[in-house]
Amino acid sequence: MKWINPYLEPRERMVRDQIAGRGVHDRRVLDAMLHVPREAFVPEECRPAAYSDQPLAIGEGQTISQPYIVAAMLQALGLEGGERVLEIGTGSGYGAAVLAHIARAVHTIERIPALARAARETLRRLGYDSVDVVEGDGTLGWDRAAPYDAIVATAHGPGIPPSLRAQLRPGGRLVMPVADKDKGQMLVRVVRAGDGHDRMDHLEPVRFVPLVGAQGWPEGDARGSIDLP
Ligand code: SAM
Repeated sequence: MKWINPYLEPRERMVRDQIAGRGVHDRRVLDAMLHVPREAFVPEECRPAAYSDQPLAIGEGQTISQPYIVAAMLQALGLEGGERVLEIGTGSGYGAAVLAHIARAVHTIERIPALARAARETLRRLGYDSVDVVEGDGTLGWDRAAPYDAIVATAHGPGIPPSLRAQLRPGGRLVMPVADKDKGQMLVRVVRAGDGHDRMDHLEPVRFVPLVGAQGWPEGDARGSIDLP
């Protein structure tokens, strides 16, 4: 008898209803999310919920983000294929895997060593060889592979870390959640200009775990900790 992957249908439904259904239309992002087995990036006991419309706990007090917001952030980067991308906050490795379907090279940084190790192992097992997982403080970026065409941070900071801005090439895009005095957290996009006058767009209110580091929140600051369902 032919084995049918029980996750394929929920994955297609997730892309159709939660992502395309909410206005994400970038074909590259939708196709990438149809390919990545999200169930492989969540703890075993969460697999039945892998395609649900919510963030899920991945250990160490951290989360794999809600699928819609992963898609919205990647769409906001405006990738056309072939770029060099830096992700801050590897977490489970899921976002990096989605990026690997679109970009030429993906560098991803995680500050919690246990998460970095687990993500590296999952990505290796699934064959995502173009993803480089680095352990460290992503608020400082990853100078060794700079400049980047695009940077995405998956944790919210008090502002845009100057190091990240500096590691974008002219025309490059940075998407990240930042603290907003009225709305809690706001997803913003910075487009690096050659003349020093970067453009900033405010995209939508969001809710993310804190970006902890030298150019983020101080360690032990619980601001922005997320309530899981
Ligand atoms: N992209 C992830 C995924 O697909 O699972 C979601 C990541 S989770 C919402 C945010 C991650 O950012 C957490 O794993 C957290 O440890 C990490 N983080 C927070 N501050 C960081 C920093 N300064 N450098 C690198 N990672 C950081």
